[in-house]
Amino acid sequence: MHDDSALVERRIRRELAERVLPAMYPLSVPMRVEAWDTPGEPVSHAEALVGLVSSARPFRVGEKWGRPWGTTWFRFTADVPADWVGDRLEAVVDLGFHPDSAGFQSEGLVWTADGPVQGIHPRRTGVPLPAATAGPFELVVEAASNPAFPMLGRRNGHLGSLSTAGDQPLYTLRQASLAVRDDEVFHLLLDIEVLLGLMTALPATDKRRQRLLRQLEQAFNTIDMQRVGATAAAARQVLAPALALQARDGAHHTVAVGHAHIDSAWLWPIRETVRKCARTFASATRMMDLYPDYRFVCSQAVQYHWMETQYPTVFERIRERVATGQWQPVGGMWVEADMNLPSGESIVRQLVHGQRYFESRFGVRCTEVWIPDVFGYPASLPQIFVAGGCDRFVTQKLSWNKQNRFPHSTFRWRGLDGSEVLTHFPPVDTYNATVVGEELVFSEQNFKDHGWSDWSLMPFGHGNGGGGPTREMIERALRFTDLDGAPRVSMGTTHDFFDRVEAEARAGAPVPLWDGELYFEMHRGTLTSQARTKVGNRRCERLLREAELWWAAVGEVPSEVTAELDSLWKEVLLQQFHDIIPGSSITWVYEDAERVHAEVAERLEALIADALARITPSTATVANAGTLDRREVVALAQRPSGDGDVQQLSDGRFAAMVAAPAFGVAATSALAVDDAVVVTERSFANGRVAIGWDLDGSITSIIDVRAAREVLPSGGVVTLELAPDQPVEYDAWDVERWTRGLGSPVGGVESVRVVESGPLVATLEVRRRFGSSTLVQRTTVRAGSARIDMSFDIDWHEDEHLLSLFVPVDVRAREAACDIQFGHVMRPTHASTPWDAAKFEVCAHRYVDLSEPGFGVAMLNDGRYGYGVQDGGISVSLLRAAKYPDPVQDHGRHSVTISLLPHGAGLGDVLREAEALNLPLRETHAGSAGSAPLPLLTVDGVGVEVDAVKRADDGSGDLVVRLHEALGARTTVTVRTSTGVHAAERCNLLEEVQSGIETSDRCAVLTLTPFELVTLRLR
Ligand SMILES: [Zn+2]
Repeated sequence: MHDDSALVERRIRRELAERVLPAMYPLSVPMRVEAWDTPGEPVSHAEALVGLVSSARPFRVGEKWGRPWGTTWFRFTADVPADWVGDRLEAVVDLGFHPDSAGFQSEGLVWTADGPVQGIHPRRTGVPLPAATAGPFELVVEAASNPAFPMLGRRNGHLGSLSTAGDQPLYTLRQASLAVRDDEVFHLLLDIEVLLGLMTALPATDKRRQRLLRQLEQAFNTIDMQRVGATAAAARQVLAPALALQARDGAHHTVAVGHAHIDSAWLWPIRETVRKCARTFASATRMMDLYPDYRFVCSQAVQYHWMETQYPTVFERIRERVATGQWQPVGGMWVEADMNLPSGESIVRQLVHGQRYFESRFGVRCTEVWIPDVFGYPASLPQIFVAGGCDRFVTQKLSWNKQNRFPHSTFRWRGLDGSEVLTHFPPVDTYNATVVGEELVFSEQNFKDHGWSDWSLMPFGHGNGGGGPTREMIERALRFTDLDGAPRVSMGTTHDFFDRVEAEARAGAPVPLWDGELYFEMHRGTLTSQARTKVGNRRCERLLREAELWWAAVGEVPSEVTAELDSLWKEVLLQQFHDIIPGSSITWVYEDAERVHAEVAERLEALIADALARITPSTATVANAGTLDRREVVALAQRPSGDGDVQQLSDGRFAAMVAAPAFGVAATSALAVDDAVVVTERSFANGRVAIGWDLDGSITSIIDVRAAREVLPSGGVVTLELAPDQPVEYDAWDVERWTRGLGSPVGGVESVRVVESGPLVATLEVRRRFGSSTLVQRTTVRAGSARIDMSFDIDWHEDEHLLSLFVPVDVRAREAACDIQFGHVMRPTHASTPWDAAKFEVCAHRYVDLSEPGFGVAMLNDGRYGYGVQDGGISVSLLRAAKYPDPVQDHGRHSVTISLLPHGAGLGDVLREAEALNLPLRETHAGSAGSAPLPLLTVDGVGVEVDAVKRADDGSGDLVVRLHEALGARTTVTVRTSTGVHAAERCNLLEEVQSGIETSDRCAVLTLTPFELVTLRLR
């Protein structure tokens, strides 16, 4: 046969787009249009109706509308002709959509007297009007003129803030008509799309592909292009045999689940996300009326909360559909949070607040974590998920890996402590599938576990900016139920999918195992971008710990304090969303985040002060919220009593050695110090450590005095480096492998001087001016401590540069220990394999450590996350300045402390100093009675860290203590409380009792396995 297949395929595609598609609406009349622009931020439907009545202006198709981030309310009216009434009547509205990218541009919400009906976007322009009667008809659309990121290009980042976006209209109303839909043509279009997509995806040698082309050709021969509607049924008959051919024996099974990934903020602010949810969820429930088999999964409890409080009719419809099983809440978290950056306790609270919400509103506890779009998955997650009630996990982000292909689609993921969760990466490699043949065939080919499993999951629906599934997607899914050449598609939930896989596993299938972190080989810049938001989060995490602890010490927590803590936690959890805290959003999002963190911190400081005032004496006191007893030199606002040395500092404060027990308070008393910092022109030294610097103030020597060992290699210098930082694809997201190598030392030294001269505190200050920025570095050594603190105050005004600090280290270690949530992981210090090489920038929380047996050097921090350990030392990324999507990213003032700690064997000293740096002793003078028995708690156990101390959520007054083993060892821990432990139980994260613990001598004694996380309930 002569091969004219390419020409025939072109014919089909052209006639489909230009002839068949327009025939879907054979009859239409224009609607009359009026418009009312909301003067400021969005208003309610009721307010808009008033605006439309009092101030609407006539509007016409072709007219421009919509300043950036504005809202225009359109009223569309028409007279329904008597012979048009019926199911096939639709209003068709095109707000001026870009051809695709639902959710990344203008969107509309259709309102009737009953509330929101559905959303409209470029792939959902029709509004079915089954209830329309002959005569006058009216439709109101709340149209949001959100800028069309990213289609406008990277130079339009200024549109990302109200203050710089301007007021030029962005859109042109393109269509507003009342139309009759030809159902036969609608279904013909779907038949063709399904078969054409399948044909395109199959290999050229596949018999089915060749046959499909000829069957489609025959169908197009049957269509009279002047009378498409009249010949559509005949064309469908031609295609019927092709659609009836059943899937091959042993075909793979795909569970297609409706979904709308809605980023809680990203290229839009949180306030717009609330409206995105209303549009998307209204559409999703509406489709459930039409398609009873259709299933929709939805994560992020906060989005339900927004509906409950701001769109109650939408919420009520969701509740009805959860009850029928068509709508499945998934994920069990408050938001789909980033997993690298939040603390372990924050991830715990994501689950606690998510699960409690779903349970209280729907009677549902999620069994799967759903975070398909998160930039890397730490090794501690499996045990957190399991303790939060989720032993199943869905993501797909590792399909974006640049270096290495992940070997499994379905596997058991084993975490740091040995916990396992059944994990699935949907092989369609997206959470925004559209159910076309190309995706389904790819999905089957890309599935890596055919050797033992017949099932995979396919989340479909417009996502990121919402929108969700369309009726076309659902219709296509129905056609793929049992179709030769494709996997068998069934619409179902994640439960349906995991139940199948678990059945396969129970029947003996060899489910593969991956042990350790799921490192994401992209988006490493998100460990550093928007540093103020990251620091604000860490500060709030610390203050939340302190507030819960000190109120627990008060005893009975007033209900208003409980409610306040609940609300403050939720504010912080929301800002941990996977495009907020990573730094990948527009300017507006960070204006919000920085304001929210500041407000939360202020409220928490007040709560902490209130609690401490009730439990501390009226004399000067230091409070220690940490796990370990502390004895250290601190800077105090008021001169302390006591016999020890007091050194007045240049800022007017007083340095003194003080001590305070863990979870307790002590009088602020200067203690005797058996050590002093000796200062010379170019060095500081105490009994533990000595540092030296050159004329420029650069540190050229660090000596561990007790080990008599130089930390820096010969000729090594602690160096601030500035490197051009221009990622290939994703500006705010990525740091490239070569970026640091392009760096050069930051010069511009203006002054070098010793500003504190001992005996308790010695500080070297170096001031620099470079580019448009200034930087003050203060390097401090204190009596009795081996820690060297380097504090940086930076006024940063560079663009597209990375500022980092490099400390060369003369330690032979093939791996670096990196602090993560509830433990640490080892990362390679070399690029031997492709998997090692990809880890050129890694996440760490409070420390990174390089150790030999018996000696090590740690770098600690109080607010940075991006590290390099493959260049003969440790680099920490301090600041970036991408231009997109936020063109002023990170400009302005920053403060951070990076510390160096030479130490002996193991990580014990590192944990101690990491806690001290991140949880400073709190000076207080406002006490009264001091009636509470303190310390509230003592926890004795090597390498055990306490993450939270609080009163139980159930109001019982029980003390809840969450702790973990942080060194990777088996250890015994003894827990005492000020009132004595009468009964102790192990709980899950939701504080539900799982097993009892022996108590003796009014203590709870338990053995922790390596990296084990335990939640205790004590009475
Ligand atoms: Zn996302």
